[in-house]
Amino acid sequence: MALSVEHLRRTYGAFTAVDDLSFEVRAGEIVGLIGPNGAGKTTTLRSLAGILKPTSGLVRIDTHDLTGAPLEAKRRLAFMPDEPHLFEYLTVTEHLRLIGRLYGVPDIDRRSTALLGELELTGKETALPNELSRGMRQKVVIACGLVRDATTLLFDEPLTGLDPIGIRRMRTTIVARARDGAAILLSSHLLHLVEEVCTRVIIMDRGRKIADGTVAELASRADLAEAGSNLEQIFFRVTGHDTAGTAR
Ligand code: ATP
Repeated sequence: MALSVEHLRRTYGAFTAVDDLSFEVRAGEIVGLIGPNGAGKTTTLRSLAGILKPTSGLVRIDTHDLTGAPLEAKRRLAFMPDEPHLFEYLTVTEHLRLIGRLYGVPDIDRRSTALLGELELTGKETALPNELSRGMRQKVVIACGLVRDATTLLFDEPLTGLDPIGIRRMRTTIVARARDGAAILLSSHLLHLVEEVCTRVIIMDRGRKIADGTVAELASRADLAEAGSNLEQIFFRVTGHDTAGTAR
């Protein structure tokens, strides 16, 4: 199992943002993490990435316990946050070389060139972050995560801010990584895209997992049968809204 989460709980003071969350992501799977604003998706991803310390629960990356063996676990995972934070004084290539040095990537320049081509950043190698558009900065953050051989990829809103061509390319990139054996967990509000690329979907609401399965499985669940068969209809139903978005 590439990623295994057992009874994850994360509080902020007295507030519980993620509660008793358990799930697994196998190699080759793309699992979509969806839910309304404030459902706890980013808190979950940041907890899985080791940025936030879980209040309780167990996270394992390739059998390595994130709390007990953080270096082994973190070496195997890459987290791509939704806020593209980069080093102000490093160019695109220098960012990738830094990752190469930190993680001991053998052929970093060759990989970087290929990845920058794949993400349509060719020509921006010597640009500093403030010379890039927001979407380009987001792609650089993603390139930094993909340039090393992580087995578990965590994406927070990887498609937001990208243009339509960028979205299509990113989808292809994500699917290709899964085909190569990566376990992928991605959060997004773009439900039609989640439906297209994800092999399975987890729906969260108010910190809890309220649904987990393929879109077909969720659509055939007895209590959802009349909701309809697309993910948007299922989402509205399980989060207690009608299709106009009004709370029931
Ligand atoms: P969105 O779709 O809006 O990005 P999300 O599902 O990613 O939402 P989180 O960012 O994980 O949700 O937030 C979950 C809950 O935790 C929210 O109620 C939020 O207000 C709360 N929260 C997040 N960060 C903090 C913090 N640093 N301190 C206190 N509460 C927080």
